[in-house]
Amino acid sequence: MNPVWSNTIGVAIASAAIGLVVGAFAGPTWGWGAVAGVLALRLLYHAAHLAGLSHWLQAPQRATLPSGHGVWEEVLAELHHTLKSLETERDQLGRALLRFRAAAQALPDGVIILDRDNHIEWANATARRQLGVDARRDAGSPVVNLVRHPDFVAYLRRSDYGAPLILRSTRTDAVLSVRIIEFGADRKLLSSRDVTSDERLDTMRRDFVANVSHELKTPVTVLSGFVETLTDEHLELTPVQRKRFLGLMAEQGQRMRRLIEDLLTLSALESSLTPSDEQEIAMRPLCDRLLEEAQALSGGRHQIDVDVASEAALYGSESELTSAFSNLVSNAIRYSPDGGSVHIAWRIEDGRGLFSVSDAGIGIDPRHVPRLTERFYRVDRGRSRETGGTGLGLAIVKHVLTRHDATLEVESEPGRGSTFSAVFPEQRLVQRKAARAAA
Ligand code: ADP
Repeated sequence: MNPVWSNTIGVAIASAAIGLVVGAFAGPTWGWGAVAGVLALRLLYHAAHLAGLSHWLQAPQRATLPSGHGVWEEVLAELHHTLKSLETERDQLGRALLRFRAAAQALPDGVIILDRDNHIEWANATARRQLGVDARRDAGSPVVNLVRHPDFVAYLRRSDYGAPLILRSTRTDAVLSVRIIEFGADRKLLSSRDVTSDERLDTMRRDFVANVSHELKTPVTVLSGFVETLTDEHLELTPVQRKRFLGLMAEQGQRMRRLIEDLLTLSALESSLTPSDEQEIAMRPLCDRLLEEAQALSGGRHQIDVDVASEAALYGSESELTSAFSNLVSNAIRYSPDGGSVHIAWRIEDGRGLFSVSDAGIGIDPRHVPRLTERFYRVDRGRSRETGGTGLGLAIVKHVLTRHDATLEVESEPGRGSTFSAVFPEQRLVQRKAARAAA
């Protein structure tokens, strides 16, 4: 039985027994008086505990729960126990909420919770950066007061949020993918993701395909034109004409071959993070080979010399580095007028390895320099084509150097010439490594 009931029944029986005993000895008046006295004391006992409880209820957080005696001790102990477990539950809930908020704050995506009228209830830190919504400052404000882009306002009005909305910032070049997810009773979760780099990659991919198609289109058109001419039975071609046409066809074929070779080189460089065939490369023989290649390309039109000032070897992929260096050498010759000089050098400077190719050629306007390593970027398209360029040489150089922890430095002045330097860090120099190990 419930202890309150058993106690009350006990008190009633005890007061009746006391009343009967007192009534038997001192008469019924004293008997009833005794009953009334016991009940009055009991009433006082309850009133005192109730007063204590009522006082505590006025400020339950500040005061501790009063203790009690008898049946109140048990009741208050139970209340104390219930309060304790509620407090533990509340703490656990509080901690879970904090964890949830911390996780939502750490999300790389922006999150805004909206009420049924599209007023802001809560937002994370990323939403502040991406959409300028501050959880503290803007709570209660209509979201369209802060995200005013007309496309967003129209999207919010729609009832179908199946596809995300792409928002392009008018101030910066940032692109956001915004999505609304409905949940609970008329609540909305607005998520935003920065897709600027995805968009940039997409544009780069599209441009790349367009560029490759464009580069291939001309030689293919020229080739098919000549094939048609040569196979035309009504056309009488002289042996000289035929020879010239075949020569031009071979030239276009070579142009396509060079382009495809460069594209394959680039794709091979992109398909692995590091070179697989790294070894010690002696720079003197490598530079001598580059000199021979340069002389063959120049055909005696330029003065070319080599200066190997250090015996330090390079650690890397010989095939990749040879391809990068010969791209620099071939550019120096192709962009230098006849009679110009080209200087190939290898030296150590401030502990770094420097492979440089200098020419006294046409030079480059400074505004073009930051874009030279972009695929198909050319300062002078006509000159590049005339000299057999694909527009991919410096993109290959940049890739190879990055894979060797090296950088490309360009110094150039229009009309005076250029110096392209591949700068290698100390850890790529073999002699230095050995010297350090010996020390
Ligand atoms: P390309 O096949 O057109 O030479 P690259 O990627 O090798 O392509 O070079 C990109 C552009 O940089 C060239 O088109 C040219 O305008 C410029 N360039 C590269 N090297 C030199 C140089 N040594 N002197 C002047 N311009 C250069």
